Amino acid sequence: MEIKHQFFDCECHTECIELQPEKEDERIYFSIYTFGCKDTKTSFKEKIKHIKRIIKFGTPFEDQIVLSNETAKQMAEYILEEIK
Ligand SMILES: [Zn+2]
Repeated sequence: MEIKHQFFDCECHTECIELQPEKEDERIYFSIYTFGCKDTKTSFKEKIKHIKRIIKFGTPFEDQIVLSNETAKQMAEYILEEIK
């Protein structure tokens, strides 16, 4: 049985959210992964974004998932399609 799922990347590119719809249960499971969920490494540009975030707000991105409007739209469309 193939497990259906979809990943949505955080804007900091160090976490992602996996949505796994379970039609039989009529539920969608959310999982949050940090580093390496898609076998990508943090680029120098992404590291600079982390440093800027820490300097500006005093905290890294790791306590929140930040979705672009476009990614949020894709997630919403995915959820709406899966719960039909
Ligand atoms: Zn993040």
